[in-house]
Amino acid sequence: MIPFYAEELGNINVLRASISTEPSCNVSEVLSVSNNAIMLKDQLVADLNAVQVEITTDNLVVAQPPSIQQDKSGLFPWEIKLYLAKAPAPLRSQQAEVKEWWTSKLLLGGAATCKKEIHCQHCDASILDNSVEYKIKDLPSEHWYELVECWICHETKPEEHQARMRPILARPNLLLVGTSYFLIHPDNLSKDSVQVDKMVLDRTNWDRGTFTKWIAVNCSKCKNVIGEGQYCVEDDALKLLAVKIFKYCITIVPALPEHPEFTDYLVSDLINTAKIHATHRFLIQGRQSQNIYALIWLFNWDTNIIYNNGYTHGSSLKRERVMKVIYLDCTKENEQTTRSIGMWSNDKSTDHLIYPDNVCKELVTKLNKSTLILPPFMRTMDHPAMIFTRKFSIGFIHRSD
Ligand SMILES: [Zn+2]
Repeated sequence: MIPFYAEELGNINVLRASISTEPSCNVSEVLSVSNNAIMLKDQLVADLNAVQVEITTDNLVVAQPPSIQQDKSGLFPWEIKLYLAKAPAPLRSQQAEVKEWWTSKLLLGGAATCKKEIHCQHCDASILDNSVEYKIKDLPSEHWYELVECWICHETKPEEHQARMRPILARPNLLLVGTSYFLIHPDNLSKDSVQVDKMVLDRTNWDRGTFTKWIAVNCSKCKNVIGEGQYCVEDDALKLLAVKIFKYCITIVPALPEHPEFTDYLVSDLINTAKIHATHRFLIQGRQSQNIYALIWLFNWDTNIIYNNGYTHGSSLKRERVMKVIYLDCTKENEQTTRSIGMWSNDKSTDHLIYPDNVCKELVTKLNKSTLILPPFMRTMDHPAMIFTRKFSIGFIHRSD
C-alpha cells in the first residue's frame, strides 16, 4: 500500500494530497490520474470513486516538500495538488450552525411529555425518578447560564437574587435541555443515585465567589462522573439545588436514534465558545484532578480529509469530516509543556474548557491517534517565531454532525 493523505480545501477547490514512495520512484514522472483514480504506473494509490470525490487532472502539480526527509520507513514524501471537480459541501460560509444532539424535540418525539429513562453509561444505574412524566424544555443558550452567573457574581448582595434566580433554574418534573447536559431538579433524582465528588468538595472555598457552587457529582453505584450539582450551604449543611447530568455520561432508555459521543459535544463547545468569545485557543482541563490535558488551537473547524492509514496499519480509503487542530499533549510532562501551559494560562484570549478527567484522557488518546493519519513530516509544528505552538502536533477531531 502507498500511504495516502489528502485534505479538501473547499475554498479554493483543491485536493492537497501527500503520498510516500521508495526513494527510487520519481513520482512526478509516473503519476497519472485515470477514471478518478490516482495511479503510480500500474499501481493504484487512491480510487477517489470509493469516497465520492471527483478530481480533474487540470493543473496537476507534483512536488517534493521543500525539506525532503526520509521517513523512518525509508520512504520519501511527495505532495500532489489536484483540483476538485465540485466544491465540497458544506461551504465555509455555511458552517455557522453546529448540530444540537438530543434536543427536547428528539426526546419528546411528538409527545407532550417524556417517558425516557436516564441511566449511567458505565453501570446502567437509573439516575432519574421513573415514576414521573417529565415536561421538557430547551435551555435558551449554553452561555445564558454563564451570563447569569457572571451577573450574580458582580452583585453586592448575591443572596438577594437567590429567590429570583431559583425559579428559572431547576424545577420539579421539568427536564431542561442544554447543549451537553440535562438540568434536573434534585427531587427528580432516583433515591441516592448521585453523590458529590468528595475531592472537589473538599477544595471548594465557600468564602469566595458565588453563593452557590457547581461541584462534580458521581454515580453512587460505580463512582464515575455523571455531572455537576449546584450546591449551597444552609445551616452548615450542604444543600443540592439543581443537577446537570452530562449527556456524554449517560444512556437514554429506550435509545434515541442519535448516538453522540463526547467529541460531538466537544465540537459544539469549541464552535460555540469560539463564536461567542472570539477565540481559537482552548485549554482542556480535568474537573477532578485540575490537570491540564491538552492545549488546542482550532485551525479549521470544518474540513474533509481522505486517507488510507498507510503511514500506520493501513485501511481502505476513508473520507472523514473533521476539525483540524494544532494541539499539545500535556500528559507528557517536560519543560516545553510546562512553559506552554504557563503561556496559555496567562493569555486572556485562551478559553478554559473543563471536563471529567476520564473524557479528557480519551480525547488526548484520540488526538494522538489522529496525528498518525498524517505523513511524518506533517505531524508536528515547531517554528521558533510561533511561540504559542512550539512542539505542537497536528490532529483531527471527528465531526459526525
Ligand atoms: Zn454508574
